[in-house]
Amino acid sequence: MDEIRIDNLKVFAHHGVFEHENINGQNFYVNAVLYTDTEKAGTLDRLECSTDYGSVCALIYKTMTRNTFKLIESVAQKTALEILQNFPLVESVDIEIRKPEAPVEMDFESLSVKVHRGWHTAVIALGSNIGDSRKYIENAVEQLENSEYIKYVKVSDFIVTKPYGYTEQDDFLNGALVCRTVLSPHSLLDLLHDIENNANRTREIHWGPRTLDLDIIFYDDNVIDTTDLTVPHIDMHNRDFVLKPLNQLIPYYRHPILNLTVAQLFEKLTKND
Ligand code: ATP
Ligand code: CA
Ligand code: CA
Repeated sequence: MDEIRIDNLKVFAHHGVFEHENINGQNFYVNAVLYTDTEKAGTLDRLECSTDYGSVCALIYKTMTRNTFKLIESVAQKTALEILQNFPLVESVDIEIRKPEAPVEMDFESLSVKVHRGWHTAVIALGSNIGDSRKYIENAVEQLENSEYIKYVKVSDFIVTKPYGYTEQDDFLNGALVCRTVLSPHSLLDLLHDIENNANRTREIHWGPRTLDLDIIFYDDNVIDTTDLTVPHIDMHNRDFVLKPLNQLIPYYRHPILNLTVAQLFEKLTKND
């Protein structure tokens, strides 16, 4: 990916854990790398096709002077998010915040924190079989659409399906969505759990009735195996209530372990049935 770089932008601001830092202020220096495709702008020689580094510098300055954080971790995080949210052509960003006048009684050039943040593609399965299922699912979609950490939400049709695993329960309403998110996989899972809890989701029977179930199916082409998160979803290829909505949204998406597209997985499952 191409890079637009800003080196050592000087910003006088008031971040720090000590009160005197918040009162007196000090100089910070910012290094930013914007990862973005510049080919079109370069070919046409048109600024509208690229990201205006002057505007980025102004946004960094505004973000750092209108907020007062204790940690340069927070300064870096907030600055990275603001750039990603305001400059749609920027795919990801490195932000380094240097603090050469940090109050540490030793000899050093500067202390700094550097973060990398970017937009990722997440695919989420939606399900419900208690109460007004359509309302629960639509509310969940709305909460995701309204999140400042998520954009470009595209939702499948909803389908009525027979219960899976534990069959002594009502039919389900299922669907899926694909979106772009700046959240890490685990932070996205936390957000999904919050939204489930907002729908009064309880966990009594595994695969049992629920007001709302939100599962991460894919996150880019990442493979994640931790105690609380497995991506791609471990059983997605066996579930037509997941594959059918996905086949509508992203038939070309390739499963990073099974190495088959969603369309191929769906066809395979349908044939086996
Ligand atoms: P299944 O995952 O087989 O569809 P379920 O959705 O009924 O079953 P839950 O009770 O909703 O299971 O979730 C149990 C735990 O599964 C969650 O708390 C979460 O930590 C974990 N988990 C692991 N991988 C994922 C994933 N890809 N998406 C959502 N939750 C996951
Ligand atoms: Ca599930
Ligand atoms: Ca779940």
